[in-house]
Amino acid sequence: MKPRALRRGSHEERPVAARILDGRAMADRWRAWVKAQVAAFRDRTGRVPGLATILIGDHPASQSYVRAKQRACAEVGIRTLHHHLPGEADRRTVLGLLGRLADDPEVHGILVQLPLPPHLDEEEILGAIPLEKDVDGFHPWNIGRLGLKGRDPYFVPCTPLGILTMLQEAQIPIAGRRAVVLGRSRIVGLPMALLLLRLDATVTVCHSRTPHLAEVTRQADLLIVAAGRPGLVRGEMVRPGAAVIDVGIHRVPDPQAPGGYRLVGDVVFEEVIQVAGALTPVPGGVGPMTVAMLLVNTLKAAQRQVEGSASPWPEPPPATAPL
Ligand code: NAP
Repeated sequence: MKPRALRRGSHEERPVAARILDGRAMADRWRAWVKAQVAAFRDRTGRVPGLATILIGDHPASQSYVRAKQRACAEVGIRTLHHHLPGEADRRTVLGLLGRLADDPEVHGILVQLPLPPHLDEEEILGAIPLEKDVDGFHPWNIGRLGLKGRDPYFVPCTPLGILTMLQEAQIPIAGRRAVVLGRSRIVGLPMALLLLRLDATVTVCHSRTPHLAEVTRQADLLIVAAGRPGLVRGEMVRPGAAVIDVGIHRVPDPQAPGGYRLVGDVVFEEVIQVAGALTPVPGGVGPMTVAMLLVNTLKAAQRQVEGSASPWPEPPPATAPL
């Protein structure tokens, strides 16, 4: 495909490429900020924020996500308590554990790693997490409040919150812009669309039954791609200059790569970088910010339960370096 313009360099002309939004660098700043806030909270209250993680079954990707979250917590001084239940654990066992964690004053946040084994009802399990400990923000009350202008949820789901924070730090305008969200999941697509609507974007949500996808995506100033389909978004589907956020994560076999695989997103990076104005890479884009926002949410859970109040919005932002 044709590059959209040429940049005049000292020795050669090369295509103008999108600005890469470096999620790792942003997440590092947020982690440092949370670490300082956790230390200040401990000094003020004598308490340490605590996050309980629950993993049901042995799904390898889920195990590695939970481990990454625990490591990130440890680095900033948040205590984690991990509960690993067998894949065949019944609803009474899971609800009993959630009830005990709900009553435990040392546990400020509860995270149930998804997906659940099919015999468990996600609605029932997530609905049993107390609102003030729902650091993933998946409780129907929290999702509902996200959609109501003038109301605040206790928590905003970590991936959409991370994306919003990236857009804000990169000074990409939202209000009045045309936003297209690919995907309507509870974890990413739906809360992302609600968040953008709340911030006065004009939002279109696409899903697996949306016809003529490219016609819709080409209208987007902001294109959030969370379809879980590697290579879904090609260069010709993107409006020149648009900000493209690639949420997808997929392992694809690559004999040259360490471990025999590499990570790719839902976006064809080499094509979209030639067209977009800004783009998140995979890996190193949305993923690190998702984990950073879990730390922010857990800190806020502890502040709200111990000190009485906390805004769900991650302010003040850490000092930002130029992007
Ligand atoms: P999901 O629950 O499978 O939802 C995928 C959504 O995309 C569904 O709404 C589906 O439509 C829609 N979709 C599927 N194929 C489509 C197509 N061809 N065109 C348009 N829409 C399509 O997935 P998810 O949990 O939202 O995750 C999406 C991706 O993000 C996955 O790759 C996941 O691994 C990744 N992820 C990354 C992070 C991170 O931190 N980086 C966090 C969470 C998820 P229907 O509703 O019609 O089925």
